[in-house]
Amino acid sequence: MLISTRRSVRSAATRSDTVSANVISLVSAALIVLVPSSISEASSAGLVTFAAVASSMTDREARAIAEAGEIANVVKNSDCFRDFIAKRKLVGTRGRTADEVAEDLRHVSGSVPVEFYFRCLGAMGGCGTAVAYRLPPDPTVYINRAYYRVGAPDFDLYELAGSLAHEAIGHALGGYEHSFDWTPLRDFSVPYSISGASRENDDAFRHCRAPLGFLTAATGPG
Ligand SMILES: [Zn+2]
Repeated sequence: MLISTRRSVRSAATRSDTVSANVISLVSAALIVLVPSSISEASSAGLVTFAAVASSMTDREARAIAEAGEIANVVKNSDCFRDFIAKRKLVGTRGRTADEVAEDLRHVSGSVPVEFYFRCLGAMGGCGTAVAYRLPPDPTVYINRAYYRVGAPDFDLYELAGSLAHEAIGHALGGYEHSFDWTPLRDFSVPYSISGASRENDDAFRHCRAPLGFLTAATGPG
């Protein structure tokens, strides 16, 4: 009886070891294909799943979310991203040092639903409205197709990855916030430091784009 209990415990452990080993090797393979030299300790880094809500989008948009989600994970788990965050003068860190935030973001993992919506409020011919938003505590990330027009000449897959990371890694899973209105310091909040800060103040996604080889990542699924 004792032996059979032990055996079943062991076989359960083996099964779960096998599953996680498979997941890790798949993840490593995916990361290696994308950026061979910039990933270290891939197995210790968390992965975020961006679960496209199919009913809210076209197949092409769903593929863009999948591809942008892969990019978001590669950037988040890169040494470039970690170094950028660790050296930044961050605000709204929930009492953590920049180094601790960098480590925290590396380990962020989980799943967030992603939906597309359309909202264009521009008075002067443009769309002066949010590119993405959430309704906390619901973790769903809503992406504005008035801004992210998948397949259009100005669509930038890498920029979409940055918006997904701001919302999912910064807010929904990371738990960091910032003021709603612009302030001089908002660019230094954790979500805006990930992506969305002004060009002058830079952000991790913009900073790491060339070093990680994503300058041409671009137009997304055809
Ligand atoms: Zn935000």
